[in-house]
Amino acid sequence: SDFSALGLSEWLSQQCRQMGINKPTPVQQSCVPAILEGRDCMGCAKTGSGKTAAFVLPVLQKLSEDPYGIFCLVLTPTRELAYQIGEQFRVLGRPLGLRDCVVVGGMNMVAQALELSKKPHVVIATPGRLADHIRSSNTFNMRKLRFLVLDEADRLLEQGCTDFTKDLEVILGAVPAKRQTLLFSATLTDTLQELKSIALNKPFYWES
Ligand code: AMP
Repeated sequence: SDFSALGLSEWLSQQCRQMGINKPTPVQQSCVPAILEGRDCMGCAKTGSGKTAAFVLPVLQKLSEDPYGIFCLVLTPTRELAYQIGEQFRVLGRPLGLRDCVVVGGMNMVAQALELSKKPHVVIATPGRLADHIRSSNTFNMRKLRFLVLDEADRLLEQGCTDFTKDLEVILGAVPAKRQTLLFSATLTDTLQELKSIALNKPFYWES
């Protein structure tokens, strides 16, 4: 299928078809091969463009090849987005027995810490709550992390710039320097360029 042509395994194409996804969108067409090649990626793509699957699919592909420790961390601005991303991982990753953990504010810290200690493959989090866990916990670590995704990065920055910068510092301190970082944003602002220089390394760049 078109998805196999991007370098994804047949089981993933099949999962896509089951979700009614038959043909890659432009952001998927461009970013999936670059991510599979191991490149950082910066995509300017709006909600509805298929940007979530553009990172979920290659992360699942790599996860199926070498699952070990917490594999992927996704930072996203809102609870609702966190649950939606978790849902795409669960549905597309079902054949892998994927375990994910959504870590957002307003939920019980202790229950979340317990879930994190069980080494989910994917953690989807809002930055403030995840930073709280890192500051207070020695029951989980992300030293084996392979992928860091900054979803809706422009909105992450809007959340109250100073807090996010502080939280991001804590989070970047807890993940390995050698990792792939994928950034998606609806708009490209100057502060986003700053974020790019802090978190990304010669990214593949895509804009619709
Ligand atoms: P997103 O842009 O990630 O918020 O995705 C918007 C919606 O498009 C989600 O419900 C996806 O399931 C769906 N979607 C993602 N990729 C494709 C595709 N290649 N073809 C059709 N629908 C898709």
